[in-house]
Formats: sequence, C-alpha cells, structure tokens
Amino acid sequence: MHNITLIPGDGIGPEITEAAQIAIEATNVKINWEVVNAGEGVIEKEGSPLPGHILESIRKNKVALKGPITTPIGSGFRSVNVALRKELDLYACVRPNKTMPGINTKFNNVDLVIFRENTEDLYAGIERKIDDDTAESIKRITRKASERIAKSAFEYAQKQNRQKVTVVTKANICKLSDGLFLESAKNIAKDYPEIKFEELLIDNMCMQLVQYPEVYDVLLLPNLYGDIVSDLAAGLTGGLGIAPGANIGDELAVFEPVHGSSPGLAGLSKANPTALILSAVMMLKHIGEQKAAKVLYNAIVEVLKKGECITYDLGGHASTFEMAEAIAKEIRKIFASK
Ligand code: NAD
Repeated sequence: MHNITLIPGDGIGPEITEAAQIAIEATNVKINWEVVNAGEGVIEKEGSPLPGHILESIRKNKVALKGPITTPIGSGFRSVNVALRKELDLYACVRPNKTMPGINTKFNNVDLVIFRENTEDLYAGIERKIDDDTAESIKRITRKASERIAKSAFEYAQKQNRQKVTVVTKANICKLSDGLFLESAKNIAKDYPEIKFEELLIDNMCMQLVQYPEVYDVLLLPNLYGDIVSDLAAGLTGGLGIAPGANIGDELAVFEPVHGSSPGLAGLSKANPTALILSAVMMLKHIGEQKAAKVLYNAIVEVLKKGECITYDLGGHASTFEMAEAIAKEIRKIFASK
C-alpha cells in the first residue's frame, strides 16, 4: 500500500484528478490517497492558500499527485504552485514531450525532456515598486541551484540513454545571472563526457523548436524560460491536454500536469485528463510500480490510437470521465490478455 497525497486543486483540477483516480485504480496498485487542498477556496477556512498541513502531508508521504491551482493575475496571493515547489525544495521540474500515436500534429518524431530549474530566477517573485510608475523584479541565480538542476539533467540523460543536453539561456544579455547558469552547466557537463552538450540562446531555441524539434533531446533551462518553453513544447506534440510533469527534490516529489486550472473549462467535464494521467505514469515509475506504469501508458496509447474516446482538444467528443473510463477499460483488457 502506498500513501500518497492528492491535491485536487481548483478549476478543472477536481474533475481531472477524479478521472485520473479511475485510471490509476484500474492498474490495481494499492494507494491510500490522503486528500488535501490548497488555493483560494481554502483561504477562508484555513487562513492561507497553502496551509501547513499540506506540506506536512507531502513530507510524510514523500509523494503527491496534484491538480492545477489558480493564481490571481497582477495582485492577490502569490502562486501556491511556486510556493509549494520552493517550500519543499522540489528543484527539478521534469517535463517530457513525446509525439503520441493518433494525435495529429505537424511533427511525428518529437521526443524531448525539459529540465526546468524550479526554485529561483524571476519566478521567485522578488519584486518591488519604486514609485507609481516604476517596478522592478530581481532575477537571482545561484551556483548551487544551477549546478544541481544541471546534474539532474545529465544524470537523467545518462540513465535514460539520451544523447544530448542543450542548455538554454540569454547569457549574451543577462551576462551575470544567465552567465552563471551557463557556466554551472558547463562545469557539470565535464563529468559526463559521453553526453553531447550544446548551448543555445532562448530566442534561437524557440525558433529551432518550431522548425526542427526532432533534433532536441534534453533541454536544461532556468525557471522562467523553462516555464515558457514547456508550453511551446506541449504545443508541438498535441497541446497542454497531454503534457505531463513532475517536481522532484532530493526526497520528495509532486507530480502535476504542465497546464493550469483552465477556468473556462471548469465544471464542464470537457478537460482532457491525459496530462494528469501521464503525470501519474511518472509517479508510478517513481514509487517503483514499473509494470503498472507501463500498463497505464500503453492503455493511454491505445485510447489515443483508436481515437474514439478522446476529448475535444484532440478532435473528439468524449467527456473527461468517458476518456478516463476508456483508459481504465484498456487496462482491464491488457490484464485479461495476459
Ligand atoms: P491553462 O493551462 O489553464 O490553459 C491554457 C489553454 O489550454 C486554455 O485554452 C485551456 O482551456 C487549455 N487547456 C489547459 N488544460 C487543458 C486540458 N486538460 N484539456 C483541454 N484543454 C486544456 O493556462 P492559463 O489559462 O494561462 O492559466 C489558468 C490558471 O492556471 C492561472 O491562474 C494560472 O496561474 C494557473 N496555472 C497553474 C498551474 C499549476 O497549477 N501548476 C500551471 C499553469 C497555470
């Protein structure tokens, strides 16, 4: 039995987490879900959008599956998602992007993995108002954070037989901050001579990705560029509805899709549950349930290939739950055929 924290989140979060549970349950992996919630909806009752007991639950269980949580724009409380990563020191944001069968995209051979530094950069939100007409943000980059995310990317590349790590910065302009990130990556790269290492500027990277995404393998980026390029990469392989992710620290891990709470879809049962279910595949691998992870992945692939029970974003008409049920049905078929 695995004890796992489940954060449904808000917007489309509750419906996609419920759908993901249906698919995960079909794998027969025994999970005791500890359900906790964060975000605007809990402020009145708990006094904070990120109550301390959520952090305690994840520290105790070591693993969480999380739905998206809305962050107010321009004012209001700071991002719960960012605070969670920072509080738990989940420094490696890992986001695979792979062409999936049955999904019609411009490219049929994308297979890249983004390693996004998850704790600093402009994302730390160190900002101040100088006067009514002037504001500034501090872009803080440290050697420690840069080296550990670079090490994560190279370790991953080595273990997964990946050929190349591309570090992406704007070190020609942000010479000190991005310069330090780049220098740290170069230092770590020396320990992995068998893995090809290259550097690109972020603007060029964006163009290369929309023209030749198949050339890229593991991408290593500071926090903000990693955030933006994650959505770009999701767009190459079929959109946010199928883009999974993980936030990994030395001891703790929180698995969540790349996408946000998508308020316009909330409550309509139209959202694609696949990104969260693929995040659950990553989670099952992380907790040592390799076989279940494979069965769950293969079931998703079958449903996509058949194309009969897919959500609107992939060109279908299925509801969130119909797609999750179809994945669960494929899992049962896989088990029955063994
Ligand atoms: P979003 O990712 O919610 O949505 C962007 C677009 O993708 C929308 O058109 C949306 O409908 C579509 N989309 C997203 N997920 C989908 C799914 N599962 N199925 C089908 N279509 C899907 O981004 P946004 O609108 O910029 O942000 C909404 C809120 O989410 C904001 O408050 C933002 O701060 C928050 N957010 C949270 C997280 C997180 O919890 N980790 C991540 C990103 C954004």
